[in-house]
Amino acid sequence: VRAAVLTDIDQPLAIQEVEPPQVGPGDVLVRVKACGVCRTDHKVMEGRIATPLPAVIGHEVSGTIESVGAAVGGLGLNPGDGVIVGTRYRCGRCEYCLAGRENLCRARPVASGVRRPDGTSVNRWNIGGFADYVAVPAYTVFRVPPNLPLEEASFVGCRVTTAYNAVKNSAAIAPGDSALVVGCGGVGLAAIQFLRLFGAYPIVAADIVAEKLDAAMRFGASHTVNASEADLVEAVRDLTRGGVTKSFEALGNSKTADQIIQATRPGGRATIIGGLRSGPFVISDGTFAMREISVGGVALRRPTDVIEVLEIIRAGRLEISALVTARYRPEQINEAFEDLEAGRNLVGLTVWS
Ligand SMILES: [Zn+2]
Ligand SMILES: [Zn+2]
Repeated sequence: VRAAVLTDIDQPLAIQEVEPPQVGPGDVLVRVKACGVCRTDHKVMEGRIATPLPAVIGHEVSGTIESVGAAVGGLGLNPGDGVIVGTRYRCGRCEYCLAGRENLCRARPVASGVRRPDGTSVNRWNIGGFADYVAVPAYTVFRVPPNLPLEEASFVGCRVTTAYNAVKNSAAIAPGDSALVVGCGGVGLAAIQFLRLFGAYPIVAADIVAEKLDAAMRFGASHTVNASEADLVEAVRDLTRGGVTKSFEALGNSKTADQIIQATRPGGRATIIGGLRSGPFVISDGTFAMREISVGGVALRRPTDVIEVLEIIRAGRLEISALVTARYRPEQINEAFEDLEAGRNLVGLTVWS
């Protein structure tokens, strides 16, 4: 079976032949339908996220359950079910796992690797989703509602549910909130939809790509700022008479992360979605403290977020399919990452079966 392997930092991915994965007693074997092309994978390729190489990367998987391990009973998971992988491996015993915040697990187990036909082994980063098959713990998978095509469901387990975690748990959007979302890719456009659903107004979207701002308006933004043409902070303050109550940074960029803090009004909250690089992070104006602006971050999502988002989708209240603007065959995977970095897509997927 095929898998996309990262052999070295800053190298293209190589499609290689590997043995079908071993299915442990608590695992399900998933025949991969699609795997989203996400910036987090690109951070692994750049070495910004360290992992032992060679490794199969990819983490936004949808697919069909092919078989279940001997200990997977009573979970309502059966061969033939369409599922997404919505959470990562967890230890199940640390204080975070026990509190339902396994996204912060401090003792996360590492996925077992796969073998090439010649016997050499290849690690998996995260779940190693750019592959024909993945074996993952049954607790990581969630059944896809029938009204969502399996292919397009793939990135729900990452970008959509992470955006939900930001809007619901970090920002706790309430009546009267106004919002700013910087970065209108998959995460940002999902966040905009949740903000609309939660009743925020105005919802200001910012990006440097005009097509992405057009998309933001279709998905629920009320105003846009093209940050290549205007000063982002000034423009948002002008539009909202002094700043928004809740702001979101959906790029993982330190400059825009600082800007959302400056575009937040006194008493508000700025949420940085995704990761900034390790090392110093500069907040350009220290008066945010005297303005009682809180700054928060978001990592992944809680299992309850996945369940709630799938219910929102089942109810027909979220647009997922329209976010997908490109599909790639496995052998086009490097082209897919070039398009991601060039900002050519809203969401791109690799399709495996
Ligand atoms: Zn992702
Ligand atoms: Zn844990």
